[in-house]
Amino acid sequence: MQLVKVDTNLCLPDDCENGICIATFSCNWKILEQKAAYTQPVIDMRRCLGCAHCTFTCPRGALEIIPVSSSQKAGT
Ligand code: SF4
Ligand code: SF4
Repeated sequence: MQLVKVDTNLCLPDDCENGICIATFSCNWKILEQKAAYTQPVIDMRRCLGCAHCTFTCPRGALEIIPVSSSQKAGT
């Protein structure tokens, strides 16, 4: 089982076109969301499916796959 988290050190929305997080468009469930342009997106870890679709669209590789156990997922 896996989840995805935003690496806040790698994520630089200022470098993304118009400050828009293009990766949010690859999450069909809107679990990866950006509240406003030029801000870092956030992931609702309790709802993230770990499908990793979003990780392929961030040009900076700022979306990191993290392995978790089932019990950890239940506790998030
Ligand atoms: S996650 Fe990637 S695409 Fe999204 S704002 Fe951060 S650097 Fe840009
Ligand atoms: S891993 Fe999948 S469900 Fe989780 S934020 Fe990325 S696209 Fe959305």
